[in-house]
Amino acid sequence: MLESELEDILEIHPYLLDPSFKKYEVLRQKKIYKGRIDLFLISKDKLNVTIIEIKRDKLTLASVNQIKRYYYYYNRKYKGTQVEVSAYLIGLSSSLDISRLKWLKVKLIDKDIPRKVKLCPKCSTAFDYRVFTCKCGFRV
Ligand SMILES: [Zn+2]
Repeated sequence: MLESELEDILEIHPYLLDPSFKKYEVLRQKKIYKGRIDLFLISKDKLNVTIIEIKRDKLTLASVNQIKRYYYYYNRKYKGTQVEVSAYLIGLSSSLDISRLKWLKVKLIDKDIPRKVKLCPKCSTAFDYRVFTCKCGFRV
């Protein structure tokens, strides 16, 4: 699986990560001077910003440091405003202890996020390819 394949899925179906993302605007490969953010989500009221970084392998300290740089960049940018910045690090596995980083969530491929999705013909919602019934009740 390529990182870009999961990016494809989450760009169109960000609610797979969190239901509240359904109404967020999604920007892909957003360039900032410190690098390129895989996915950048912003809420309709522009008060919530979420940075998403995807790794196809086990999550490392280097990937945490990378997303930290992005987070601090936006945290500084929005300092003194009501905008809240949070981040997701997605990988295949992780043994990292990120409990001190309140702004960061780790999600694992296949466990929390499906690497492939099916699209429900009834409600057009994407869901895990290993599941046979959509949340709307339609059996695929
Ligand atoms: Zn459905």
